[in-house]
Amino acid sequence: MKIETVAVHAGHAIDPATGAVSAPIHLSTTFERDVEGGYPHGFMYTRNNNPNRQALEEGISALEGGAAGAAFGSGTAATMAIFQALEPGDHVLAHLDAYYGTSRLLCEIFLRWGLEADFIDMSDLAAVKKSLRKKTKLAWMETPSNPLLKIVDIAAVTQILHDVGVLCVCDNTWAPVLQRPFDLGADLILHSTTKYFGGHCDVAGGIVVSRTENEFFQRVRTIQYSGGAIPSPFDCWLILRGMRTLPWRMRAHSENAMKVACFLAQHQQVEHVHYPGLPSHPGHEIAGKQMSMFGGMLSFDVAGGREAAMNVAAKTKIFIRATSLGGVESLIEHRASIEGKGTTSPESLLRLSIGLENADDLIEDLDQALG
Ligand SMILES: *Cc1c(COP(=O)(O)O)cnc(C)c1O
Repeated sequence: MKIETVAVHAGHAIDPATGAVSAPIHLSTTFERDVEGGYPHGFMYTRNNNPNRQALEEGISALEGGAAGAAFGSGTAATMAIFQALEPGDHVLAHLDAYYGTSRLLCEIFLRWGLEADFIDMSDLAAVKKSLRKKTKLAWMETPSNPLLKIVDIAAVTQILHDVGVLCVCDNTWAPVLQRPFDLGADLILHSTTKYFGGHCDVAGGIVVSRTENEFFQRVRTIQYSGGAIPSPFDCWLILRGMRTLPWRMRAHSENAMKVACFLAQHQQVEHVHYPGLPSHPGHEIAGKQMSMFGGMLSFDVAGGREAAMNVAAKTKIFIRATSLGGVESLIEHRASIEGKGTTSPESLLRLSIGLENADDLIEDLDQALG
C-alpha cells in the first residue's frame, strides 16, 4: 500500500461493539480480569497500555515502516527514554544543530548521570569518524536541523556508524512522510508528534519507533510504563486522527514553503534564505536524494540584524508570532530570543513554519512586513 492509504487506515478498525467508523476514546484507567485472573483483551492498567495508545503506536510504526513504537506525553519525554535506556559511561554523538531541548537534556541531565556526549556537525562525515570512541553507543541525527536547516546524509552517517556497532537515531519531526529514515539505515526514529502529526497546534506528544524488536527498544518500553510519561487516550486519539491527513498536509506545506523561499531569496531586505529546496542551499543535493519534498520549515536572515528581524516579526498580520511548528497556521519566530543565553541562532534570523494558507497571501504578508 502507498503511504496515503497507510496514513488513513493504519491503527484504525471498525469498533466491533458498535460499528463506529471513528474509534471510540477509552478513558477507563483499569480493565476487568477474567475469573482465572487473566486479561482477556490484553489491557490491565492504562499506564501499561491503553487501546488508543496501542492504536497510535501501531499506526505510526506502520507509517514509518518500523516494527514497534512507544508513545510518550511529549517529544522530549520520548527523547528522555532513549537516553535513559543507555548505561552510565556510554558516549553519545549528537548533532551540533540539534533541537535545543535535546542538547539541553544531554547537558543538564544526562552528563550528570554519567553519559558522555560530543556535539559535532554531522553533515561533516570526517568529523563523525574522528569523534568515535570505544564507548560510543548512540548517534543522534536531526535533519533538516533547527534552525539552520542543515542536512545530514542519513545513509552515509549510518553506514559509518553501523560498521562500529553504534545505534543510529533520527529525529524525523521536521520531515515525516517526506523522509524515510529506516530505508536509509536508521535504527530508531523519534517524533515530536506535537508538530506535524498532531498538525493543528492542539496536542502534545512524542514517539520512539524501532526498526526491529530488540533489547534496546524493550528498555525504552519499560521506561515508558514504569517511568509513566505516557500520553492520555484523548491525546493519542487526536494524534492518530492528525496522521490520516499527514501525507497531503506535508505536500501542501512543502509546496507553500518552496514558493515563500523563492520569494524571500530575491528580496532586497533578505540576506540569506535557509531552505534545502533552493539549489543554493549547501545540502540541496543530499536533501534531493533522501527527501521526496523539502518540507514546510525555513529560516532567513534579515538585513540589519536583530532589530530589523524583530521589526519584521512585529509587522506580520497572517504569520503568528509563536514558537513550535507543523500546524495549519503559519508561525514566525525569532529563535535567538526564545533560546536565550548560549543560543547558536543568529540574531538576524527568523524561522518560519509555513502553514496551509494560500502561499500568495503569505508572500504578500512578508512583503509588507519587510517594507
Ligand atoms: C519540538 C521538537 C522536539 C521536542 O518535542 P516536544 O513535543 O516539544 O517535547 C524535539 N525535536 C524536534 C526537532 C522538535 O521540533
